[in-house]
Amino acid sequence: MTGTNWAGNLTYHATALHQPCSIEELSALVTAAPSVRALGSRHSFNAIADTTGVQVSVAGLPPVVEVNSSAREVAVSAGLRYGELVEQLDVAGWALHNLASLPHISVAGAIATGTHGSGDHNGSLASSVAGLELVTADGTVRAVRRGDPDFDGMVVSLGLLGVVTTVTLDIVPTFQIRQDLYEGVAWEAIEADLDAITGSAYSVSLFTDWGDDGAGQAWVKSRADAVPSEAFFGAAPATRQLHPLPDELADVTTAQLGAAGPWWDRLPHFRLGFTPSNGEELQTEYLVPRQHAVEALRAVRTLAPLVQPHLFISELRTIAADTLWLSPSHSVDCVAIHFTWRMHVAEIAAVLPVLDAALAPYSARPHWGKVFDTSPEQLAAAYPRIAEFRAMADRLDPNRKFANAQTDRWLTR
Ligand SMILES: Cc1cc2nc3c(=O)[nH]c(=O)nc-3n(C[C@H](O)[C@H](O)[C@H](O)COP(=O)(O)OP(=O)(O)OC[C@H]3O[C@@H](n4cnc5c(N)ncnc54)[C@H](O)[C@@H]3O)c2cc1C
Repeated sequence: MTGTNWAGNLTYHATALHQPCSIEELSALVTAAPSVRALGSRHSFNAIADTTGVQVSVAGLPPVVEVNSSAREVAVSAGLRYGELVEQLDVAGWALHNLASLPHISVAGAIATGTHGSGDHNGSLASSVAGLELVTADGTVRAVRRGDPDFDGMVVSLGLLGVVTTVTLDIVPTFQIRQDLYEGVAWEAIEADLDAITGSAYSVSLFTDWGDDGAGQAWVKSRADAVPSEAFFGAAPATRQLHPLPDELADVTTAQLGAAGPWWDRLPHFRLGFTPSNGEELQTEYLVPRQHAVEALRAVRTLAPLVQPHLFISELRTIAADTLWLSPSHSVDCVAIHFTWRMHVAEIAAVLPVLDAALAPYSARPHWGKVFDTSPEQLAAAYPRIAEFRAMADRLDPNRKFANAQTDRWLTR
């Protein structure tokens, strides 16, 4: 056993966790192991990173943050957590276009599941991947670049194609962000003005418990030179620092109240060095095409009595379309409907099929790193390139040493 995931809701079945210090050592490990799974920072809530073979972490490989200013790219060690590379990048005058709600996750783990932040014009974190180096099933190191055949299938990989050692990311000139929070956006405003709300700033998140009052909080992250509005679609500006979960202390959240700061210290909701969110929780998230967003929100609202007893909070975000085959935002701009659950494991297992069924008519795609009950048939229908992905995985890993029971179920032929 190699311990639990971050939330502690599952214990990995792996017989060992290896942390090689060199590519040669990693390559020898992968070659020798009949069954192997890369492990990132353990923040996924389902068994995606589990195996009955061995797990391997690339966090012990030499840390690299290598900026190529003329190409507008940075090459980073795949096991670095975003929080470990952002300041170095910022000091060099550069930024990533977006970050998730927390900086605690590894780059390789985040891109493998299609992790995202928010913003109408912001693609998932995987969408900024310009290149990858990975150790494939036979132990050879393979480097791929955006534009290469199959590259779009290789980024959101669910860990099925090999162990990623280096990731090259697009960068943009560094920028400052201010974060203004508002309290009380009514459902009427959300339904009538959803596009205007999410389009009103660089990144917008709404937090709701699905009660009749709408979204209790709106987190509005703007370029620092933007002038914030006094009222936000009927909501009043918050007058104190807030946490999205009602009973948590706000000192773990990034600075609010309009204080401008670097992108890496405002785009995530939570600060490195503190427990993000609650810790005793599960998460679920569905991405729905924007044209279905209002109907999908209405469908979830009808389930409020079922959902609320098990919910800390829900978050609504937007993600721009990308071209990556298994990305939940593949080819369509999306609204993400997220649930931070209390650790009510059995009860949530019963709620998930109901949520899945309610959102299926809206072409919802679940987040690969969170808990969901979507059937393999629904997944196959939701991902037009899934058969090509399977064929590529078969080519790169003919003995299927990187597969596990969870990915086998999702990708059933
Ligand atoms: C508190 C909290 C907040 C979150 N907020 C967000 C959010 O804002 N937005 C969002 O989209 N998601 C969010 N998530 C989900 C999280 O981003 C994903 O689950 C992400 O995949 C976790 O990355 P990890 O490094 O922990 O990977 P793990 O959970 O360890 O692994 C995930 C997958 O990555 C693969 N992997 C890891 N390393 C490698 C490697 N070197 N090579 C190949 N494959 C690899 C694993 O095999 C596995 O398939 C949140 C999770 C938590 C716990």
